[in-house]
Amino acid sequence: MRVKLFDRLPERIRKKVIFAPCLVKGLKGDCWLWTGAIRKGGLGKGGGYCTTSFEGERDYVHRLVFVLTGNRIPLHKQLDHLCRVRRCCNPRHVEPVTRKINILRGQSIPAKNARKTHCPKGHNLKHARLRNKPTGLSRECRICDRQRVRRYRANHLEQIKKHQREYYRRKCARNSY
Ligand SMILES: [Zn+2]
Ligand SMILES: [Zn+2]
Repeated sequence: MRVKLFDRLPERIRKKVIFAPCLVKGLKGDCWLWTGAIRKGGLGKGGGYCTTSFEGERDYVHRLVFVLTGNRIPLHKQLDHLCRVRRCCNPRHVEPVTRKINILRGQSIPAKNARKTHCPKGHNLKHARLRNKPTGLSRECRICDRQRVRRYRANHLEQIKKHQREYYRRKCARNSY
C-alpha cells in the first residue's frame, strides 16, 4: 500500500525520502522522512518544517506530497502532523484541520514533548529512547538514564554485592547435585 502511494511521487521527491517506523499507535505505515534541509526559525514561521520547490513553486514538503498523492487540502485548512514528526511527509500521517485546531493540538503535552530537543539537564535528545506512556510518546534521555543507574550502583554497592554473592552461592548449590 505504501509503495503504491509512494510511487505516485515524482522521482526527485522519492529520492529524498527515507522510511522510518512510526511510533504513534493507530497510524498506518512508516514515517516518510524528508532528508532535505529543515527550515530554521521559530514556530509559526514554518521553522522545523521542510520546503522544496516543485515546478517553480516553493511549498512545504508535506503539503506537496499530500497533493501529489491525490489529496486535496480544503480551503482555509492546514495539515496537522498526527505523527508529530515534522520531517514526515506520509500523506496518511497528516490531517487537514483548521488553524485553530492545529494550534490547540500543538500545545498539547505530547506535542510539546515531541518538540523538545534537549533534556532538562541539557543533553541532546537526538538519540533518546522512545517510550510509550499513557500521556503519549515520551523521549527519555539516555545519558540521564545511564547516570541514574551509575548513581544507584554507587549508593547501593554493598547491597548489590551481597545480592550477587547470594546469587552465586545458590547457583553453586544447584550445580553440585
Ligand atoms: Zn509520520
Ligand atoms: Zn539528560
